[in-house]
Amino acid sequence: KSPTADENVVVIGLGRFGGQVAASLLRLGHEVLGIDEDPKLVQQWSDDLTHVVQADATDEDALLQVGIREFSRAVVGIGTDIEASVLTVLALSELGIRDIWAKAISVKHGKILRSVGAHHVIYPEATMGERVAHLITSRMLDFIELDDGFAIAKTRAPGDTVGRTLADVGLRSRYGVTVVGVKAPGTDFVFAAPDTVVPGKAVLIVAGTTDQVERFAATT
Ligand code: ADP
Repeated sequence: KSPTADENVVVIGLGRFGGQVAASLLRLGHEVLGIDEDPKLVQQWSDDLTHVVQADATDEDALLQVGIREFSRAVVGIGTDIEASVLTVLALSELGIRDIWAKAISVKHGKILRSVGAHHVIYPEATMGERVAHLITSRMLDFIELDDGFAIAKTRAPGDTVGRTLADVGLRSRYGVTVVGVKAPGTDFVFAAPDTVVPGKAVLIVAGTTDQVERFAATT
């Protein structure tokens, strides 16, 4: 398969976050150019990535030299060094990169990244921290918050739903959540229909506003 230019991604900063992004992109079949200023990391990644170069990503000339203009997408995984993170996003933005994703370590950092040209800001620690809080305090087994206060969760079914159809249980009228999928232990998920009977020890996929999903998952 020959990837089109749009499938190529440049990942800047091959630390824990950037390294994972690069590895997953490779697994999904994309070509990845990795950039890091640390020669040891560059050496470490040289066998795995399509191209990996040692460069200071805050330096526009250095970015031009590694052929940055061939990429329409960049991920900036520099976090700890906020100045380097901001200057790198600024350089990418000045060079006209169309789709810039950047990791932020705080809300203020994220605001600065947006103002210098990041199109998407990711908060890995904040997002994961919130998710873990949900998992340890409710029936949730997994939780994804989408933009605009909408969420999808995997939850254990409440005890009073077992053996009844979804129409009878009426979770939408009681909690506002929509059941998307139902899974009995040891089987695959099936799409939920009004006549789907909730099996014992069932796992549900529910969607709704974050508030609704949280309220539903907090009940027993
Ligand atoms: P993580 O927590 O995901 O490991 P870090 O912020 O600790 O993130 O790591 C970021 C990576 O970015 C490090 O490998 C570092 O060498 C690299 N890096 C930092 N500044 C620059 C820069 N100006 N140019 C290129 N790479 C950089």
